[in-house]
Amino acid sequence: MPVADYARYCEMLERARKGKFAYPAVNVTSLSTANAVLKGLAESRSDGFIQISTGGAAFASGTAVKDMVLGAVSIAEHVHRVADRYPVYVALHTDHCQADKLEKFVIPLVEETERRRAAGRPNLFSSHMFDGSALPLEKNLDIAVKLLERFRKSDLILEIEAGVVGGEEDGIKASGAAKLYTTPEDTLEVARRLNAVQGARYLLAATFGNVHGVYKPGHVKLKPSILKDCQDAVVERLGEAARFFLVFHGGSGSELRDVHEALDHGVVKMNVDTDMQYAFTRAIVDHCFRNYAGILKVDGDVGDKKAYDPRSYLAIAEAAMAERVKQAVSELRAAGTTMAH
Ligand SMILES: [Zn+2]
Repeated sequence: MPVADYARYCEMLERARKGKFAYPAVNVTSLSTANAVLKGLAESRSDGFIQISTGGAAFASGTAVKDMVLGAVSIAEHVHRVADRYPVYVALHTDHCQADKLEKFVIPLVEETERRRAAGRPNLFSSHMFDGSALPLEKNLDIAVKLLERFRKSDLILEIEAGVVGGEEDGIKASGAAKLYTTPEDTLEVARRLNAVQGARYLLAATFGNVHGVYKPGHVKLKPSILKDCQDAVVERLGEAARFFLVFHGGSGSELRDVHEALDHGVVKMNVDTDMQYAFTRAIVDHCFRNYAGILKVDGDVGDKKAYDPRSYLAIAEAAMAERVKQAVSELRAAGTTMAH
């Protein structure tokens, strides 16, 4: 299927919230990882998200180039070209972008979409995240409103964050004093400001004790009931139409019952990065240990070309990551839910 356009994207969100399931949103940094997500989604008959972080995008452009806009365009182009070969819809999204990086990452990508639309072509990305969680809420929302007004004109969807996800991602560490639990007052303010932008769509990453990275079981004190409190407050004050589409960040390593409760409260997109990184790399390590002598030219031997051809282990890693995507789909109750029939 083609990459989800605005109408399909909105339908994805509605279906997920109504059906109390969520789509995995998987970070990719290369063709192999992007292909792994498509394979995993297709095999579990689920739509989903492919997303790119600023660091992942810089990496994708090549270590000699390190241009995050170029890398993001390159991966998105690839997904647009191959998505047709998979019987599911994917949305293309960019992950955390702090205020000081907007001009260097999100805005040039929005300009690229604006140029494409002017030429009658589809959007490059479907949605972008602005992460203003390090700012006071008012400043965060001032920037978000400006972005949303621009996004609306190009059928782009905005993801924002209120409250701070703990842990570390892409080298950005949340401070110890960070606000790990969003309050209903905060989310009411989000709705009051963003719903004033008529006809626009946004996703809200509300925090309920979630952390980036992975921690041993028991270390993460998730309180998904906070999400219900936020939804109840906004619906009571502003009506059912104001109910949020929520995003769950830092989901790797979470207990399943917490994940399911979050889905019950309107989480429609769950970011999974760390678990996917592990699945991909573990498969490569396994290959290397099994083919130790073939990969290394031990004692002047010529080694085994089949074992050190990068395709051999990248294909295994792609399959392993696809399996992990399938597991995520199943845990998020999304298996078999694709709109593509
Ligand atoms: Zn995140």
